[in-house]
Amino acid sequence: MALKIRDTELQAIDAHTHMGRRGGPLGHGVATFLGQDLVNDMDEVGLDRAVAFPLGAPYTDYSEANRTVAEETAKFPRRIIGFCRINPNFGIDASAASLAHCLGTLKLRGIKLHPEIEFFDPNDEGLMAPVYESARRYRVPLIFHTGMSSKAAPGVIAELASRYPDVPVILGHMGVSEYVKQAVAAARQCENIYLETSVVGWMPLLLEGFRRVGASKILYGSDHPYNPLPLEVEKIGRHVAREARLGEQDLRKVFAENLLSLLGPER
Ligand SMILES: [Zn+2]
Repeated sequence: MALKIRDTELQAIDAHTHMGRRGGPLGHGVATFLGQDLVNDMDEVGLDRAVAFPLGAPYTDYSEANRTVAEETAKFPRRIIGFCRINPNFGIDASAASLAHCLGTLKLRGIKLHPEIEFFDPNDEGLMAPVYESARRYRVPLIFHTGMSSKAAPGVIAELASRYPDVPVILGHMGVSEYVKQAVAAARQCENIYLETSVVGWMPLLLEGFRRVGASKILYGSDHPYNPLPLEVEKIGRHVAREARLGEQDLRKVFAENLLSLLGPER
């Protein structure tokens, strides 16, 4: 089943989902969630593909979780686009080695960073240089969690992102709530900064993004399995589409084409 909006079938790719193994439900009640679970849920709403990266596991270096994403991606190569997750606090040598393995050997196609859970400053060039340099070398995008704390403020991320204009940087959750205006400003100021729609729920803020940044720099995402897919799909496909008067071409960009243009070649 394809995603249908206003009787038009659209290619639909989710830019933000998580997967991994856990002994029991941790953060937000999510336990083990693997490729087959994600594919089943995508089939229910008609999504073609999804970007998936590890569930949050602070204090780990994510090497095991990244391997799991690579294994699950290999089971569903036409449905899942695997990204790695990095904890920069392990130091620049560890980050560079981990990224070479994840992007070079495992051929994962992007990098997820969570400045709040992993507790680092995303404008700390000492920690972040190998991350941006690896993204540049392998031509993959970065996606940051943004919002909920000043650690993950879009303006702080933009400070360093603006110095790597050839590296696409996606602001996950587009600042959630109180940081949405900052995310919108960053996306307007920096050509390489994009917004992703998961979690942000107040319509005036979402619409501010669509009106001031435009559909060419916004990516649909869900943060599944934390958020149900139908909730996030309808938010954009029905409510924002109507309020922001998105046309068919806008919807095609938001649901797939923008993300595809950032992914670089399959390796
Ligand atoms: Zn997330």
